[in-house]
Amino acid sequence: DGIPGPLASARRHGPAPDAPYDVLLVGGGIIGLSVAWRAARRGLRVAVVDPAPAGGASHAAAGMLAPVSEVTYTEEPLLRLGLASLARWPAFAAELAADSGHDLDYRAEGTLDVAFGADDLAALDELAAFMGKLGLPFERLTGRECRRLEPMLAPAVRGGLLAPGDAWVDPRRVTRALLSALERLDVTMIHARAAGLEHSGEAVTGVRLAPGSPASGPASGSPGADPAGRVVPARRVILAAGAWSGVLEGLPPRALPPVRPVKGQIMRLRSPEPILRRCVRGVVHGSSVYLVPRGDGELVVGATQEELGFDTRVTAGGLWELLRDARELVPGVTELEVADVVAGLRPGTPDNLPLVGPASPPGLSMATGHHRGGVLLAPLTAALLVDEAGDDEGLAALCSPLRFQEQR
Ligand code: FAD
Repeated sequence: DGIPGPLASARRHGPAPDAPYDVLLVGGGIIGLSVAWRAARRGLRVAVVDPAPAGGASHAAAGMLAPVSEVTYTEEPLLRLGLASLARWPAFAAELAADSGHDLDYRAEGTLDVAFGADDLAALDELAAFMGKLGLPFERLTGRECRRLEPMLAPAVRGGLLAPGDAWVDPRRVTRALLSALERLDVTMIHARAAGLEHSGEAVTGVRLAPGSPASGPASGSPGADPAGRVVPARRVILAAGAWSGVLEGLPPRALPPVRPVKGQIMRLRSPEPILRRCVRGVVHGSSVYLVPRGDGELVVGATQEELGFDTRVTAGGLWELLRDARELVPGVTELEVADVVAGLRPGTPDNLPLVGPASPPGLSMATGHHRGGVLLAPLTAALLVDEAGDDEGLAALCSPLRFQEQR
């Protein structure tokens, strides 16, 4: 049910400075900032606690909004979430651009999956049959047709699948825009680490900041420190700390979400002009690689998937793998300048579905566990939590955090 009705209809009315916030987000990645933005837009009094907003996985992400081309045989529930969120992206992007004055580089020009050998082609045909059964929009293309769409593709490409409805966006532009929009809406940014949750009886009533945290202030921030570790009161706390959500102190073990970090290394290359028109994906040497073009000539090459805990080192092996595979798809990538390499931590869950909605104990909600699709799923996550449009498709039940809590 997201934020309770009376809160959802409350308007800002100049409360006392120490009054509880209506909503407090722990974590200011693309998920926390999106929820904060939608909640503030509805007139709620909102705060975000994060020592380094927009710096987690959201800073690393490629920004593919590609539920169709990323469909896998065992993940139909995730596909439903992805399609519902993709449908929300055009309005989300347009409203955010208007609220912030930023261009998000949002583009809905499709994703092209390509294949090389006979085995790859057979796998592509199988996938096409599966997509057909699900009623997903796609076009099966020959190698020549692929190269007509994307002239820089390798001559060895023998066929492809175009998912014309898939889109992409620049996540770094999105989080910058969200921060600007939040500033305009007077959302309080608290540049501190949440060190635990405050309770009154069973119910969560706020967040305890790590000792030495700066005092709260508007988005611009205000200096000053409270060595005792201040408590920020809130009527609803939403845990949106990405890969770190499973290790927040102050939660009883059975309430901690089963979220684990899944490392991804990714690289940004630069050319004077874009060398691709749309996202291109392929399976090379058994691993999946994708290329995402930006309007300014940047080309994102991603991404590794590694289960190494909280390790965020960029390794020679990781970059070599990315370049080796990207060169198979588009030989010209080796001519491009390297602009940036980074490793991020995806918030993985046991069933690859996110945890979104009210949790136990009361007063706590979750917006975490978005794994490989947090950029895609940001609009839907915010809508489910802020209860903008109701949930007539049963999507809230698919990602209820209670599915894990009830099992324990
Ligand atoms: P994050 O962005 O990690 O933000 C979590 C925030 O919580 C951080 O800012 C952190 O500082 C803060 N935090 C942590 N602990 C605390 C604490 N105790 N107190 C306060 N704050 C805290 N998704 C897509 O949809 N499309 C893609 O193409 C795509 N590509 C990806 C490529 C890579 C290489 C990676 C790593 C991920 C990719 N993803 C993609 C996944 C996507 O990036 C994530 O699902 C999404 O960014 C998760 O957002 P988040 O806000 O939950 O987490």
